[in-house]
Amino acid sequence: MNKMPKQIQKKTFPDITRPHWIEINIDALKHNITTIRSIIPSNTKILLPVKADSYGHGSLAIAYAAKNFGVDFLGVAHLNEGILLRQYGVTLDILILGPSIVQDFPWIIEYGLTPTIADIHTAIALDEYLKKTNKTSKIHLKIDSGMHRYGIKHDDIHSILKVLSLKNLNVEGIFTHFATADEPKNPNHQKQITRFQSLLNTLESLNKRPPICHAANSASLLLEPSTHFDMVRPGLALYGYNPFENISLPVDLKPLMSIKSTIRALHTVQAGEGISYGHHYTAQAPMQIATIAMGYGDGYLRGEPNQGQVYIQGKACPIIGRVCMDATMVDVSQLKNVQIGEKVEVINGSVNKKISMENVAKEHHTIPYELTCRVARRLYRQYIWKQKTISWEELKEELEIPNLNH
Ligand SMILES: *Cc1c(COP(=O)(O)O)cnc(C)c1O
Repeated sequence: MNKMPKQIQKKTFPDITRPHWIEINIDALKHNITTIRSIIPSNTKILLPVKADSYGHGSLAIAYAAKNFGVDFLGVAHLNEGILLRQYGVTLDILILGPSIVQDFPWIIEYGLTPTIADIHTAIALDEYLKKTNKTSKIHLKIDSGMHRYGIKHDDIHSILKVLSLKNLNVEGIFTHFATADEPKNPNHQKQITRFQSLLNTLESLNKRPPICHAANSASLLLEPSTHFDMVRPGLALYGYNPFENISLPVDLKPLMSIKSTIRALHTVQAGEGISYGHHYTAQAPMQIATIAMGYGDGYLRGEPNQGQVYIQGKACPIIGRVCMDATMVDVSQLKNVQIGEKVEVINGSVNKKISMENVAKEHHTIPYELTCRVARRLYRQYIWKQKTISWEELKEELEIPNLNH
């Protein structure tokens, strides 16, 4: 039997073999947390949503870094995301933002997670479960103030008071979520704020206001201080992107993710030749084409052919024809001395605004959230930590992230 090469045994590969990679700037997370802290009241907590693998940025790295940088809570969408973080030794409070169901209860208790309860029947069932098992659990109660996704209706005072009266539930928090916070002119936002605020006033007058009331996502946090309450839940802003399409950021936030690739092939095509699947592009004159390692299999959007650009040697190189699964062709006719293996900036707003996460999303009629979430696992990840570029293995050492042994 052949002996495995050393590199395979070590599971690390030399740089040259990386066709593409993402860079996650942990220093930028620190900067963004500090910036957000500076615009909220000093006793207002920060919950960092780390759902969907931290919007594609990698939830372990982000969770451990966030703890170092003084975040108070983590938010996940589902039970399984919370369990994974606990298995890796994350000790921060973890709120499961999506509603928990009866089948989740044993796991919530075992892993010390905080469930969101979004209906009266589940609240009663959890109360009975806790009584039967002689356990306690903190919960956060979700209020539907107008999004109509999850939660007890804001004016169903009867059910809300019933949940608050259940003896075995420790209602630590009460919260709502906004449907239109990124459109400040939409009257729904104020309507939702008013509804939530008036519910809190009612609870306050009955001396039943839970200690942690929260509502703000990134957009409302940035534009609407009245939504800060006891905790804010900014995801996109802490990852450094602008949640608004047409309003510039009121504070300086730095994007965490940039996406890089390399040139894998170079060739010249003659006038009249078609390029890529479907031949949606025809060369009008002889041109030099670079094929870069980046396709929809990497999470890059296929969208329309002949749309968008990458940057090589600091210059815009238009995408030619269709994006393939693993490759995209770009026009490098204007570049001098272009080489196979050369670095390509695919998404990096600091090179040019045209390839910022926000702008590439906009060009594809989507939002930066979707782009970061789509980044494929096969891209190598490297990190910026204390102004140095380091590997995942090095970051794990810096942040004391354990290896999971199973
Ligand atoms: C994801 C999420 C957030 C964060 O939203 P951003 O727009 O990324 O700030 C806040 N609250 C809830 C309930 C969420 O699910």
